[in-house]
Amino acid sequence: MIIRTISDEMKRKYGTKVYRLSLSSGCSCPNRDGKLGYGGCTFCSEGGSGDFASPVLSIQEQLEYAKEKVGRKISAGIPESDRRYIAYFQSFTNTYGDPERLEKLYAETLERPEIVALSLGTRPDCLPDEILDMLVRLRQKYDKEIWVELGLQTMHDETAKRINRGYPLPVFEQSFHKLKEKDFSVIIHIIYGLPGETREDMLETVTYLSRLRPYPDGVKLQLLHILKGTKMAEDYREKPFHILSMEEYIDLIVTSLQILPEDVVIHRMTGDGPKKLLIEPLWSADKKRVLNALNKAIKAV
Ligand code: SF4
Repeated sequence: MIIRTISDEMKRKYGTKVYRLSLSSGCSCPNRDGKLGYGGCTFCSEGGSGDFASPVLSIQEQLEYAKEKVGRKISAGIPESDRRYIAYFQSFTNTYGDPERLEKLYAETLERPEIVALSLGTRPDCLPDEILDMLVRLRQKYDKEIWVELGLQTMHDETAKRINRGYPLPVFEQSFHKLKEKDFSVIIHIIYGLPGETREDMLETVTYLSRLRPYPDGVKLQLLHILKGTKMAEDYREKPFHILSMEEYIDLIVTSLQILPEDVVIHRMTGDGPKKLLIEPLWSADKKRVLNALNKAIKAV
């Protein structure tokens, strides 16, 4: 089976491994602050479903801090000047805020020569025209890739209500097409293991993505992590639901990779939940074991 992973794609384009720098835009989320809803998606942790990044530091300080952190993984043989990065704003809703402030912030990252792409995690109901126009301006000015990452999680509105996602499927579809008309790279997040969903329901979501035209540029396949302090942790305690086993998850991923068109780039196949907060599935804490089993299953197809 041929799969196009984002790390291979970036290596091919830029001739070197490209690293993610986790940054914070300081944006909140309208599903938490009351504009669209309260409490947020039930699986969302205090950090806004993203990697750690400090909003207290200036963007330049954040960039330096993130580079230093990532630098520990980069071979000393690669000089500083040859290293390339994606400015990765994943936590909360990074298109929800004053467009002028956001334009300045994102411009400050894009003007750095070592940054080759800007990646913005957001909700499909937070992409008004003025934000899209601002992103188009930035793309033209800096001639760099801008990715918009949409948290869909599931195509099923019943599950979406249950996890308090806060928008129905047509809102996603409309935003997806609007973004593609403006030629943005669109990456879609989906989550396997959401309460009440069967294997068929989950595969229906990935099949739905495979039928979108144009194709999504990328997909992130993620495992549901039930984290301490979330509404989902409460729901699970009150009414436990099925937790995917590692075998079930691997089967879902391998099947999904067979369903998705080869042109769709795979950005992620596992989640990276904070171990300290993880309630279930506990097997997912052993990332090495999961990746080994996953790679073995992919090779066998
Ligand atoms: S939209 Fe994102 S940041 Fe907002 S509550 Fe849901 S997962 Fe959290």
